[in-house]
Amino acid sequence: MRIIVSSTCQIVSVLVPVYVDSSYSYRVPNGPLDTEDGAAPSKLVAGQVVKVPLGPRSVLGVVWDDDVAFTDNNRLKDIEHVYHGTVLSANFRKFVDWIAQYTLAQRGMVLRMVLRGEESLLPPKPIKALRLAGPVPARMTKAREQVLSVMEGGLAQVKADIVERSGVSASVVDGLVKAGTLEPCFLPAPALVATPQADFAAPRLSEQQEVAAQQLRQAVAADCFAGLLLDGVTGSGKTEVYFEGVAEALRHGKQILIMVPEIALTGAFLDRFEARFGVRPGEWHSGQSQRYKNLIWRGVATGEIQVVVGARSSLMLPFRDLGLIVVDEEHDGAYKQEDRVIYNARDMAVVRGHLSGFPVVLASATPSVESHNNALQGRYSRIHLPDRFGGQSMPDIALIDMRANPPEKGHWLSPVLIEAVNETLEAGQQSLLFLNRRGYAPLTLCRTCGHRFQCPSCSTWLVEHRFRKQLVCHHCGHCEPVPPACPACGQEDSLVACGPGVERIAEEAASLWPDRHIVILSSDLIHGVQQLRTELELISSGKADIVIGTQLVAKGHNFPAMMLVGVIDADLGLAHGDLRAGEKVFQTLAQVTGRAGRHTGQGRGLLQSYAPDHPVIAALANGDREGFYTYELEQRHRAMMPPFGRLAAIILSAEDREAALSYGRLMVRAVPRENDVRVLGPAEAPLSVLRGRYRFRLLVATPRSFSLSPWLRLWLSQCPKPKGSLRVQIDVDPVSF
Ligand code: ADP
Ligand code: ZN
Repeated sequence: MRIIVSSTCQIVSVLVPVYVDSSYSYRVPNGPLDTEDGAAPSKLVAGQVVKVPLGPRSVLGVVWDDDVAFTDNNRLKDIEHVYHGTVLSANFRKFVDWIAQYTLAQRGMVLRMVLRGEESLLPPKPIKALRLAGPVPARMTKAREQVLSVMEGGLAQVKADIVERSGVSASVVDGLVKAGTLEPCFLPAPALVATPQADFAAPRLSEQQEVAAQQLRQAVAADCFAGLLLDGVTGSGKTEVYFEGVAEALRHGKQILIMVPEIALTGAFLDRFEARFGVRPGEWHSGQSQRYKNLIWRGVATGEIQVVVGARSSLMLPFRDLGLIVVDEEHDGAYKQEDRVIYNARDMAVVRGHLSGFPVVLASATPSVESHNNALQGRYSRIHLPDRFGGQSMPDIALIDMRANPPEKGHWLSPVLIEAVNETLEAGQQSLLFLNRRGYAPLTLCRTCGHRFQCPSCSTWLVEHRFRKQLVCHHCGHCEPVPPACPACGQEDSLVACGPGVERIAEEAASLWPDRHIVILSSDLIHGVQQLRTELELISSGKADIVIGTQLVAKGHNFPAMMLVGVIDADLGLAHGDLRAGEKVFQTLAQVTGRAGRHTGQGRGLLQSYAPDHPVIAALANGDREGFYTYELEQRHRAMMPPFGRLAAIILSAEDREAALSYGRLMVRAVPRENDVRVLGPAEAPLSVLRGRYRFRLLVATPRSFSLSPWLRLWLSQCPKPKGSLRVQIDVDPVSF
C-alpha cells in the first residue's frame, strides 16, 4: 500500500461495501484515532476496519491496499472511527480482490459479503438477566411457583428464557422483580466457543481410513496449498477421516473451516463433532441469530474461535489464521450462489487455500466431474475410500423397467416397488420413497377446455400444493388458491392434476399402508433448521416406517434403520437440455440410494425408469462409478464443455422483451475479435420469463487455457451502458448451461 503521509495527515484508500469497484481516499485525522492503550496516534494499516462518511451516510469500510488517488488534501473527508479489534489479513484482502476479478463483481459487493454491522466489531456486551434475590413473596400463585422452580439452583437467567421455560406471561416475572424476589443483574459476555481438543476421542480407523487420514495429516503439517479430493463411497467414513485432518490443524494451532450444504448442518453432525473434539464448533448458517453470528465473526477474526462449521457464506468469514478448509459434499449445487456476486464457494475455497497457502479438502461420494477430472490430471491428490466402513456392503441397486411393470392408472408406485416396501415393513425396517419434486402435481389442467395454470410472471406452470391448498410457482413464489371452477371455461370440478409430486406419493403411500408411520420431508413443508433437525432425528431413531422425500433427504444423513430406497422417477432431470443433467441425476441417485444399509444388513435401491438403457441409469444400476465418469468426460470432451473448456453465461433481463433481446444483439456486435472465443446467442434463457422479466442468454465458450475474465471485462467495457430496467448478470462457470 502506498499511503501518503503529508506533514499533517495520512491519506488511505478505503473499500466500502457498496456497488462500486474502486476504493475511495480518506484523510486520517490526528485526533480521534488514539489507540485504546493511550499510545501515540497510530498510523492506519491496510486491513483495519473503519467508519467513513459516504454521501449522507456513515458506512463501515476497510483500509485497502490500493494506491491512494492523488487528490487535493483539503477536499478529502475524514475517517470517523477506527475499530482496533479486527484486521483483515493481507491474504484475505487478496481473496476479496480475486473473487471480484474472477466473477466480474464489484469489489465493494464482495466486501459486502464479508462485513457485518458495527456490533461484530465491538467486544460483546454483558447481557441483562435476572437472579433470585430476596425472600419468597408473601402472595404465591401457581404462576409464581413455576417461575421460582425455573430459577431453582440460583443461576441468573435472561428474562425471555425464564418466561419461556416457566410458561408464564412476562408480567408474572415483572411482578416478582417488583416484589424483590428477583433482581436484575448482568451475565458475563457469553464465552465464545470453547477450544476443540485434537485428541479428545480419536476413533480407531480402519486400515483404509488410516492411510487416507495419514495423507491428510501430512498435507496439513506441510503447511502449504494442496487440493485433496477425498473420494469415498457413501458410508465409507469420510467424516471420521477428515476429522483427522482437522485434529492435525488444531495441533498446529490453526483455524479450520468445515463447509457443508446448509441442509447437512444437522444436530447429528454437530453431535459427532462434539463426540470427537469435546466441544461444539462455531456454527454459521441462516438459522443463527444475528447476535450469535456477530460473536462468531469477531471470534474468528480475533482467533478465539478455532473451528467453524458453516454453510456457503462461511467462506467469507475473516479467519485470522486459517489452516484448513474442508468442503463436504463438494458436488452439491448449494455451494453456488446465484444472486449478487455469482460464485461457487467450492471453487473459491480452493482459491482461498491457494492464496493463503493451506490445504483444501473436497469430500464427496459423488465428486463433481470437474473435481474428478482435476484428480485425474494430477491437479488434486485423490484420497480414495472404495469400501464402506465396518464391512458393510454397498446397496444392491436394481432397475424397475416401468414399461414392463406399469403402476395402476393414476398411481406411481409399480407393483415391484410396493412389494419391496411390504417386505421391508415386515422385516421391521425403514423405506424411503424419493421423488425430487415438491408439491402434489407439477401441472394442473382443465379437462373440459384444456386450460393450464401458468405463473402470471414466469414462463412456468403452477405446481399444486394440496396440503396448502394452493397453486405455487417454484421460481418466483407466486401462489394462488386452487379455484373451485376453471377460470377459462367456468366448468366446475373439471381440474385435474397431472404427474406426481411428493405430496401425491405420500397420498398413495397412505392409502397403501394406512397403519404405518409415514413421514414426508419436503422443504416447503419444513419451517427452519430446527424443525428439519427434529424430523431427521425422528427418522434416525427408526420411528418412521416410510419416509417420502425430495432431495432434502438425499444428502449426507445417517439413517440406521433405512434398508430400502425406492426412486419414483429415476429419469427425472435426464431430459433437461442442460449438459450437466446426467451428472446431477447420477449424483442425486447415488447419494439417495446410498442411504440404504449403512449400518447393518444389505441395503437395496430400486430405480423406476422408462429409460433403463440410458448410460447414466445403466451406470447406476451396475454400480459402475468409473463408467459414469468416463462416459460423462467423453461427452464433455466432444463438446469442448467444462472441464475441457470454459464457459460464461450472460443473462440479460428486462421488463420489455425487445429491450433485452436488442441489447443482446448489440453485445454480440461489440464482441472483441478473438479466435479462441465463441459467443452463442442471444437465445431465450432456460427460464425465458422470470418474475415478470424477459430473459435472454449469451453463452461464451473458450478453451480451458483461455483467460476468460479479463476478456469479458474488455468486452463489457465496449458495450453501451444498460439503460432502464435492463440488467446484465454475468455467471462465470455456470452450473447449468
Ligand atoms: P460418509 O460420510 O463417508 O458417508 P460417515 O463418515 O457418515 O460416512 O460414516 C458412516 C458411518 O460409519 C457413521 O455412522 C460413522 O460413525 C461410522 N464410522 C466410520 N468410520 C468409523 C470409525 N473409524 N470408527 C467407528 N465408526 C466409524
Ligand atoms: Zn413465477
